Amino acid sequence: MSQLSAWDHPEPLALHTAPLPEYGTGSLADLLPTLAAGLGVPGPRATIGELTAADRVCVFLVDGLGWEQLKAHPDEAPFLNSLLGSSRGGTGRPLTAGYPATTATSLASVGTGLPPGAHGLPGYTVRDPATGGLMNQLRWQPYTDPHSWQPYPTVFQLAHAAGVHTAQVTSPAFEHTPLTKIALSGGGFHGRLSGEDRMDLAAGQLAAGDRSLVYTYYSELDGAGHRYGVASDTWRGQLMYVDRLAQRLAEQLPPRSALYVTADHGMVDVPFDDEHRIDFDTDWELRAGVALLGGEGRARHVYAVPGAESDVLTVWREVLGEQFWVASRDEAIAAGWFGPRIDERVYARLGDVIAAAHDDVLIIATEREPKESALVGNHGSMTPAEQLVPLLEVRS
Ligand SMILES: [Zn+2]
Repeated sequence: MSQLSAWDHPEPLALHTAPLPEYGTGSLADLLPTLAAGLGVPGPRATIGELTAADRVCVFLVDGLGWEQLKAHPDEAPFLNSLLGSSRGGTGRPLTAGYPATTATSLASVGTGLPPGAHGLPGYTVRDPATGGLMNQLRWQPYTDPHSWQPYPTVFQLAHAAGVHTAQVTSPAFEHTPLTKIALSGGGFHGRLSGEDRMDLAAGQLAAGDRSLVYTYYSELDGAGHRYGVASDTWRGQLMYVDRLAQRLAEQLPPRSALYVTADHGMVDVPFDDEHRIDFDTDWELRAGVALLGGEGRARHVYAVPGAESDVLTVWREVLGEQFWVASRDEAIAAGWFGPRIDERVYARLGDVIAAAHDDVLIIATEREPKESALVGNHGSMTPAEQLVPLLEVRS
């Protein structure tokens, strides 16, 4: 398809048609500040209007649990789906993840209460201006000083300093990771391997303070979606397990508690053919003038050879513009993709060209990213299937 000449391509997607994350009113970055303000923590502001304060607050973050996928599976997730309405006093609604809709970015938005343009983790991989090379923000490779990369305090640290009993209950593997340090640290860390143990421990930690803020996490729904797709039995089996975990935690809530089940992003299954998977590594047209390819299949940061920025933008828009929103860095910033402001240290981490998928398509890179290029389920962009995440409430 990239061999076609310009006049074979209809108009590229207009940037204003991208459904923007609801920064400041209903995005993941708004959740913890709202909850912390309800706990009386000085500093954070409540920006999600309809949430009522509680003395004990637990956030259960399920990796990869999109709002649309949850609603499409009431049989596999009867408990969580029952929270969508008001039958249990719940106030189920979607939040937007933020751009890109990817784990490192979303966890940083949750933990710092800041949009990506401020916390500075604006992608799966981005260019580190200090080295000129790619930095994988999920695996933190290559290592760079976490606190210069993300200098803001987490909401957990603010809550802990304000005397709120604060705890993270997650996999032991995350205890010393830089991502945990800069996004989720503050208060006690409790590593448990099994989901059931995490739920039980989270309930116990919630009860351990008069005012408490507890975060717990489960990752394997996302893993199943990546490997087998959201249409797979494995994914549905994981969803059933997540539903039981959430119910187990809900049934153990101590008095005066609120549990919020949420997620970092949803998921889109992408067919395995050349039409849906455009291989950057074999496409001479897309590669021309590109020094570095960052991000992931549905949310690309493209770093141009100096001087080639506008040529790369022109070609990418011409070749991909019907299926991707293709923006220059300044256009994406002006459109608010990364939030209302971009910190100076974050600006050069963003691609010269930024491509966000509109259709069920990917820009894969079979040579430089063989593992990622083989994934069935993907996420990153602004479509509702990957951008909307649930915010489900249970109160005791
Ligand atoms: Zn994922």
